[in-house]
Amino acid sequence: MSDYQDLALFLLPAEVEAQERAAKRAEWNSHFEQVEWIAPYDCADGTPAGSRRIGIRCPACGAVEVSGFVLALNHGLDPGVPKPAGFTRCAKML
Ligand SMILES: [Zn+2]
Repeated sequence: MSDYQDLALFLLPAEVEAQERAAKRAEWNSHFEQVEWIAPYDCADGTPAGSRRIGIRCPACGAVEVSGFVLALNHGLDPGVPKPAGFTRCAKML
């Protein structure tokens, strides 16, 4: 067996695992709807109140946040990181 074949046998399970993780992430991310977010007040980054951006809706409580990062901070659900507990409840609902 060549060195390449040895390497292919070694990497194949990792590739399958990576594909499974990517599929799980894509399925999880599909629950996070992109919707319009309107700044409720003048924001610290200089965004004036009433400005419109593409935001993300929390799949648990339905609130809209300006980004996935803010959603993860305020709701405990990150669009890029699947949670075994699912998406039916978030930190804002506690
Ligand atoms: Zn929420």
